[in-house]
Amino acid sequence: MERQTNQKGAVQAVIDAAHAPLLPQEILERSQRTVPNLGIATVYRHLKRMVDTKKVRVVNLSGQPPRYEAIGESHHHHHFQCTSCQRVFALHECPANLASIAPKGFTVERHELTLYGKCEGCA
Ligand SMILES: [Zn+2]
Ligand SMILES: [Zn+2]
Repeated sequence: MERQTNQKGAVQAVIDAAHAPLLPQEILERSQRTVPNLGIATVYRHLKRMVDTKKVRVVNLSGQPPRYEAIGESHHHHHFQCTSCQRVFALHECPANLASIAPKGFTVERHELTLYGKCEGCA
């Protein structure tokens, strides 16, 4: 039981500390710093449970495997992906008037927006 809790705690701590969506492999590598014998199947199992209990959300960028990020207090936001190192960063602003570009008479319910470019380290 305690082992389970430690594994899950490690996975959750990694996601909470990241402040950006991570791939399961990245979550595994970071979690292994505290739980060295952690396996990828266990990471997936905890991720699924955390998605079900709304602690973590899935971030799907087109044509890429799903990433996971903490829901926590984070509100609606967007992401930036570096086309060089492939890392994904959270952006904390939203161009609020996006709905205004919809045709007259249309109602916008939601939007998705991802910026692509070079991160600070790769620019
Ligand atoms: Zn980069
Ligand atoms: Zn937005």
